[in-house]
Amino acid sequence: MSETQSKRVAVVGGGIAGLTAALRLAEYGHQVDVYEAAPALGGRTKSFFDEGVGEWVDNGPHMMVGAYHATRKLLADVGASAHVSWQSSLTLPLWDKQRGFFKLQAPSWLPVNLALLWAVYRMPGHDLSSVKAMLKLALGMMNRDEEQTVQAWMDEIGAPEVLVRDMLEVLCLGVMNEPLTTANAKTFARVLATSFSSHQYAKMGWFNKPLSQALVAPVADKLRALGVNMELRHTVRSLDELNHDAVVLALPAFARNRLLGIQEEVKTQAITNIHLWFKQHIPLPSLMLGMLGTYGQWLFDVSEMMEQKDDLQHLCVTISADKSEASQDELVALVLDELGKVVGENISQPEKIRFIREKRATVLVRKDLDVDLPRHVFDAGEAPYPGQLPATIELAVISGEEVAKKVHLSHEINA
Ligand SMILES: Cc1cc2nc3c(=O)[nH]c(=O)nc-3n(C[C@H](O)[C@H](O)[C@H](O)COP(=O)(O)OP(=O)(O)OC[C@H]3O[C@@H](n4cnc5c(N)ncnc54)[C@H](O)[C@@H]3O)c2cc1C
Repeated sequence: MSETQSKRVAVVGGGIAGLTAALRLAEYGHQVDVYEAAPALGGRTKSFFDEGVGEWVDNGPHMMVGAYHATRKLLADVGASAHVSWQSSLTLPLWDKQRGFFKLQAPSWLPVNLALLWAVYRMPGHDLSSVKAMLKLALGMMNRDEEQTVQAWMDEIGAPEVLVRDMLEVLCLGVMNEPLTTANAKTFARVLATSFSSHQYAKMGWFNKPLSQALVAPVADKLRALGVNMELRHTVRSLDELNHDAVVLALPAFARNRLLGIQEEVKTQAITNIHLWFKQHIPLPSLMLGMLGTYGQWLFDVSEMMEQKDDLQHLCVTISADKSEASQDELVALVLDELGKVVGENISQPEKIRFIREKRATVLVRKDLDVDLPRHVFDAGEAPYPGQLPATIELAVISGEEVAKKVHLSHEINA
């Protein structure tokens, strides 16, 4: 079959990877059917309508960094670039019990590498030893071993505890959703190298609308316009059900293995988000805050992020790599107590609470996640290997784009 012929392609999974694959395949001129098991598209970039507060709510705030090139291009292609708000330059607002509020702020008038060193040096509790460790980190980025953990890398360079705590652990948990002791150093190095290569890439961005409207709906609208067929509530249970020229599996590695009948265990990690709606206005120094030494790790002012002017203030506390076994009530009480300490005042009971724990929020970076597939089947699923980006929206978009290209260029499918 020539690459110029139109192929019938099935895309299994309507998350961001599947939607991106479908979009690019349709643009190449192929006929695409998307099969999604859930009642809505989007997968783990998920929103639901909360009747109690009368608004759309995300499973959790999804942050972007300027270095998410593929996601930014996708958003531009579907006319949704304005749905992400960006920092003007890198600022990481932080809080801990001893130091109160402080921030890592990279001045934009210095070249990015110097700006970062300056930003670290200026944080309370830091001195030249943090700067030296940052330099060693930068010098060692290119030669990380596939098996090394981030903790072993930090030990190798003798990173001061305060640097690990204020910056490296926060980044590692936030981007890789895995503690330093097991997170892969080669992937962490890749994240640092890509994110901190220029001021434009180093800044953080956030969706200013719920994910379903900001990202999923614009891509789905474009797919409809291109004639892509999308079937919701359609779980594909076996490849035999599909008689297409090519099949794209856009499923996280554990769901792909289940579909293929493979028993191999896939390591995943949970993320917990506790949404809180308050009548009392809670004054926060920034719309996003990294909390150190607390159970809650990130505090987001969702009302501010979404520019909502509702009566209730919507906050969300995020816990990456959450392994806590305490009850939901205990964890909510703990988070409210921590919030009171952060803002230094008594917090009234929230009007509404929504506790969301995504048990399999991300597939962890591991070496042996690939599987053998029939020649007409292509994998676009989340199975990050050492040195590749961790499980993020960006990885999903890149996987979708790459698989679409492979299907388009493949000659021997359906053989
Ligand atoms: C709470 C939370 C917070 C996150 N925060 C961030 C963040 O801040 N920044 C960031 O970049 N990333 C973040 N992520 C990660 C990001 O959401 C995921 O990496 C990305 O959405 C994965 O997309 P995907 O298409 O690869 O997989 P999925 O979104 O899982 O899509 C797979 C789809 O396949 C469907 N499916 C499964 N089996 C079948 C079957 N047999 N037949 C048909 N359909 C099937 C599923 O229903 C699902 O819709 C977060 C994830 C979570 C859960």
